[in-house]
Amino acid sequence: MKNTKELRTWLDDMKLDHPLVIAGPCSAETEEQVLKIAHELKDSDVNYFRAGIWKPRTRPGMFEGVGELGLRWLKKVKEQTGMKTCTEVANAAHCKLAIDNDVDLLWIGARTAVSPFIMQEIADALHGTDKIVLVKNPINPDLALWLGGIERLYTADIKNLGAIHRGFSTYEKSKYRNVPEWQIAIEFQNRFPDLPLICDPSHITGNREMIFDVSQTALDLNFDGLMIETHFDPDNAWSDAAQQVTPTKLKQIMQDLKIRKETN
Ligand code: PEP
Ligand code: MN
Repeated sequence: MKNTKELRTWLDDMKLDHPLVIAGPCSAETEEQVLKIAHELKDSDVNYFRAGIWKPRTRPGMFEGVGELGLRWLKKVKEQTGMKTCTEVANAAHCKLAIDNDVDLLWIGARTAVSPFIMQEIADALHGTDKIVLVKNPINPDLALWLGGIERLYTADIKNLGAIHRGFSTYEKSKYRNVPEWQIAIEFQNRFPDLPLICDPSHITGNREMIFDVSQTALDLNFDGLMIETHFDPDNAWSDAAQQVTPTKLKQIMQDLKIRKETN
């Protein structure tokens, strides 16, 4: 990647006085659930409303998302609240549907970022798009594989790019659901200082009690933003119940975080 300065134009253009915030439920469950959360988040620092509609689950038989239907709900979020929207895409068909339905930002999940063939398929499907595309780190701690996926998108003339650090799978006992291995994120920043880097404390921690501390660590490390799963009834969420926070709690977290932005 050569002209890396242009990679952060989309973020600079937003002229934010706080880190970029992406929030919303892990999964879109029902139209009512999506709209209720969106309305509760609309008067906050949230820049993009997230909701997963295609959910790659580890084991079969779990809730795998509402699919295409959720795109209509995201449209309603935009119409009713004015918030921009985002969702996870995991193949070329998802990309086409999300673009055709006006989703503003797409992210590629950790189970997809691990596969070069699928990353290439997605890059081809999104070729030349001016949508913002964020790539989560692959589930395994492999910086080259993460960067390789991003390079495939860059080579497909997708320039509104960024990365999401969501921690790495481990078989060791850990207080984290996915260990942060912060040194990998730091190495990432050293290699591509202009590529926006967002932290996803929800999937790193796996529990709502640690969200604040991990978010603060990310901001202290000069991350550009946070993606935090938010649900009005976290305990009864259809996926990732233990790690979601309520909209009220999210606003509190945003207020309490010390926001330090390095100036140069
Ligand atoms: C998600 O954001 O809900 C998700 C499935 O994340 P990840 O790809 O990081 O596991
Ligand atoms: Mn989730």
